[in-house]
Amino acid sequence: MPIDDPTTATPSEIDEELARLGIEHAKATDTVNGLTARVRRLVNDGMDEYATELQPRIEQARQTIAECEAAARPLDAEFERRGGWTRAWLVLNTGGHVHRTMQCRTCFPSTRFAWLTQLSGHDETEIVEQAGKAACTECYPSAPVEVRNRPSRIKTPEQLAREAEKAERAKAKAAKAITAPDGTPLRTNQYGQIDTEFTARRSYIDALSYARLLTKRNVAFHRDTIAEYHKDAQLILAALAAKHGRTEDDLRAELAPKVEAKWNREHRNWS
Ligand SMILES: [Zn+2]
Repeated sequence: MPIDDPTTATPSEIDEELARLGIEHAKATDTVNGLTARVRRLVNDGMDEYATELQPRIEQARQTIAECEAAARPLDAEFERRGGWTRAWLVLNTGGHVHRTMQCRTCFPSTRFAWLTQLSGHDETEIVEQAGKAACTECYPSAPVEVRNRPSRIKTPEQLAREAEKAERAKAKAAKAITAPDGTPLRTNQYGQIDTEFTARRSYIDALSYARLLTKRNVAFHRDTIAEYHKDAQLILAALAAKHGRTEDDLRAELAPKVEAKWNREHRNWS
């Protein structure tokens, strides 16, 4: 996300933006290089008119490069102004190490890195703690042996983002779900197992309205069935109350108008 005021941004925020700009810059550079090579070939082969058609795309990519550089300048300046901060990179291959700089002599120009921007500005001891055996011995020579023997807990920003998304989805699912107050599945007589709050509310409303219909038609004949519907409604009410930390009375009052509406809309006409 673009940063309005670098002086109030955290190292992680600044580096995250610099990483994003770096990727955009690299893509645009690839575009310029690729298109320029094509233009050269076309001109060599005497097809200048096609070469001319590629110019606007080259110009646009050059513009992107200039914009990325302009946007990065105040962020780099802020890094300098604060006297720098810790940064960490993870080499993107199996068993890749964590380095404090991409200029580490154990790496090569072709080495692919993930910038661990979430660790920017963090204590080096903490970075080494998380990296465990993935900590580069050149970059972190003082890391204690017991830390070096631990498995790495390092994650790339992409992995962290995916995990956060997954947690968000699980949370959304949990928000829609319902169980009995003790956490076991909510089982009812007439509606089977109820998994979602939506179904729970709908079943509660149906149970009470239908029980009312049976009562009106022949309370003596339907006594057991009516009791079953009331029992289901009670189970659902208890589950809703437990989920939301509300009293059953409170929820009963909230749902009463909906039971009434269902009765008026449907069951009353059947009696
Ligand atoms: Zn290193």
